[in-house]
Amino acid sequence: MSAIDSLPPLREVIATHGLSAKKSLGQNFLLDLNLTAKIARAAGDLSGCDVLEVGPGPGGLTRGLLAEGARHVLAVEKDSRCLPALDEIAAAYPDRLTVLNADAMDSDVLTRLTAPIKVVANLPYNVGTELLVRWLTPPAWPPVWDSLTLMFQREVAERIVAQPGSKTYGRLAILAQWRCDARIAMRLPPEAFTPPPKVASAVVHLRALPEPRFEADAAVLERVVAAAFGQRRKMLRASLKGVIPDIENVLESVGIAPTERAEQVSVERFCALARAVAG
Ligand code: SAM
Repeated sequence: MSAIDSLPPLREVIATHGLSAKKSLGQNFLLDLNLTAKIARAAGDLSGCDVLEVGPGPGGLTRGLLAEGARHVLAVEKDSRCLPALDEIAAAYPDRLTVLNADAMDSDVLTRLTAPIKVVANLPYNVGTELLVRWLTPPAWPPVWDSLTLMFQREVAERIVAQPGSKTYGRLAILAQWRCDARIAMRLPPEAFTPPPKVASAVVHLRALPEPRFEADAAVLERVVAAAFGQRRKMLRASLKGVIPDIENVLESVGIAPTERAEQVSVERFCALARAVAG
């Protein structure tokens, strides 16, 4: 019996259902239920919340989310081999778990949930960043979700929370920090997973702000930031020349020296630049 529920230990679940890890699906499983419960707690109070989990696999994090009191969990899993194991969890938590055998990249599953919504996932590394960018760029703000609590390779997690002046500061940091509070909630070594991946991991917690931190048109900001970091070693007067006419004057009008590089410019100043461009 495990510490958090009456279901079998995860090693036994994996053996019973023949869930040998597939590299192509980014399968690095968390088998310590105390750890998965801790990740669930990093998402804050789950009671009264619907939770979207992408990639439940054998269900370690799913069990953590349910044991920590999530009102309902929608778990989207591409690998049909995991379904019998997930059905056992659904039976142990009646009416609180729905499993969808689908590719999370193909379906807009958030629309199936009822607010308040939290997204919690140990994401497959090959699709993690793309899913994050989708969740961070909905057609309108605030988004349907209240928070994202997501496992990434540590290097990606550091890019999300990076501050200006650091080598990891870039498009992902601006996208995340413009409209969210973002922080690293936990750091995990490779040995926390079975099989262990080559790199360390970290859980990032992003809380959606009710409105953007600074005013800017999302599409214009995205275009300016993409161009600025597309050539991050260049001075802004060179990297933005193609996207902003009269670039030197526009930069100076918002207090940015034309000789600065993208990684020195704060989210606030990028927003001011986007406003000047839009205006
Ligand atoms: N949540 C489990 C855990 O913590 O042990 C498994 C995490 S494992 C890193 C990633 C999971 O995502 C795998 O179960 C894999 O089959 C699933 N997966 C991979 N690509 C997917 C996709 N495009 N849509 C849905 N699930 C996917």
